[in-house]
Amino acid sequence: MAKRSNKHTSGPLGEGALPVKDEETLRQLYYAGAQLPSPMGGFLEVLHVQPEEDGSGTVIFECLSSSLRFRLPLKAATRTERKKVRDRMDAGMDPECPRHEEGRRLHRVGRNFICSACGVRYAKA
Ligand SMILES: [Zn+2]
Repeated sequence: MAKRSNKHTSGPLGEGALPVKDEETLRQLYYAGAQLPSPMGGFLEVLHVQPEEDGSGTVIFECLSSSLRFRLPLKAATRTERKKVRDRMDAGMDPECPRHEEGRRLHRVGRNFICSACGVRYAKA
């Protein structure tokens, strides 16, 4: 077996997960809260959301018809996104993920504020 890099392991659930072809389309659907079409037909179900060391996130999906697993990498927060979150927090509001169409509260994990739906880190306490 090839040695795995520790950089993007995505946890045990991500092992063996396949890359998807049209990442950008799936990303848009995911953030819009829509159902995601599986490359195998049918739809994908979210299995796990993994925050990565570098502040990005990975969503692991399972195809409902084939049980194959797919991974969708989500980019780390941009400066603009981090500022948006910081501004809300400074105004005394609960921090929300700036990407989803429906507001998602960020969760505090250690010193970081992470979105549980995309795994991306947006702020530090
Ligand atoms: Zn999010």
